Amino acid sequence: MTNVPLLDLGPQNRALEAQFETAFRDVLRSNMFIMGPRLEAFEKDCAAFLGVKHALGVSSGTDALLLALMALDISEGDEVLLPSFTFFATAGSVARLGATPVWVDVDPHSFNIDLADAARKVGPRTRAIMPVYLFGQSLDLDALQAFASAHKLRVIEDAAQSMGARWKGRATMSSGDFGATSFFPSKNLGGMGDSGLVTTQDDALAERARILRVHGMQPKYFHREVGANFRMDPLQAALLHIKLPHLPEYNCARAGNANFYHASLKGRVGLAENRPGADKAAKILLPVDFSGQGIWNQFTLRVPGGRRDTLKAFLTARKIGCEIYYPIPLHRQQCFVDQKYRGFDSVPVAEQLSAEVLSIPIFPELSVEQRQWVSDSLADFAAGKTE
Ligand SMILES: *Cc1c(COP(=O)(O)O)cnc(C)c1O
Repeated sequence: MTNVPLLDLGPQNRALEAQFETAFRDVLRSNMFIMGPRLEAFEKDCAAFLGVKHALGVSSGTDALLLALMALDISEGDEVLLPSFTFFATAGSVARLGATPVWVDVDPHSFNIDLADAARKVGPRTRAIMPVYLFGQSLDLDALQAFASAHKLRVIEDAAQSMGARWKGRATMSSGDFGATSFFPSKNLGGMGDSGLVTTQDDALAERARILRVHGMQPKYFHREVGANFRMDPLQAALLHIKLPHLPEYNCARAGNANFYHASLKGRVGLAENRPGADKAAKILLPVDFSGQGIWNQFTLRVPGGRRDTLKAFLTARKIGCEIYYPIPLHRQQCFVDQKYRGFDSVPVAEQLSAEVLSIPIFPELSVEQRQWVSDSLADFAAGKTE
């Protein structure tokens, strides 16, 4: 038995510890703790990495979404299309502005927003769509842009789980009106606290977001509108700046782990890839990177037939970390049930996935023994072993 945590941040950060300590000392001695050149340098390199014109460091991924929505004037009476199967912040940021989330169903294979369902749910008040590149996989960005321009919608890309993911070479966060990502410690570029990033290709939107990030203040102590404090700390920026050049190698290692799971489980009894037309008798479905350029923030299995919780207990007994992302679709969250936002009764795939998904370890520093133990355990379960 090999202990396999779902995520171990230790090895990745320990490898850079000396550089972090130097950066911390530099910031400490600079006495510059808000904004400034360290943040700007980090933003510049993020923009270059993503191929975008503007990147703004902010206080969290949630605030990145909120700031983007504010800069687009999304407010009361406006509807925003978003998937019901995602992390809470996607819908929470819309609701906090008094706007209305409209629940869109997701694709059962990619777990991403279903544009055909989105088309059915466009109404006269719909102003924007927020695709989420869930678990690190991009959507077809051409289809997304065609959809948005056909319906005259703004696009805010929730790329919190997909920094570095691409579609036909184009980075997520580069084709919407705004892109938003998070540096929460469990994301692919994980910080040492909360922070996030907003991107845009539009000069005017960038300027608006920049001003809203500091209380709508321009120039100093003159407020033309109400913003908030959405700033990212230069200390956090300095630490993340050390990790940024390593992001491609982290993402590559995650893909290596995913490839290993696929290769070692191919053709095994009870296992299949989660593709259209997959074997109905399969006990475990393995996630597929349809874009071929995803970054595997999570490796999320589908366990049909009501056996998900049994697999979770099975893996836990074998000391393998696993987690359900996400157990309750957003339209069923207590804070949203009473509102019965449009779409609440027509997102069957979101409901089904919440009952079937289980994410297993995929972090870059997994050892050979660890991933072998995970893969052997999945094969055992699928073959009918009970412990
Ligand atoms: C993590 C996450 C967020 C929020 O990011 P924070 O930095 O934790 O605020 C938003 N959307 C999705 C899909 C996420 O996974």
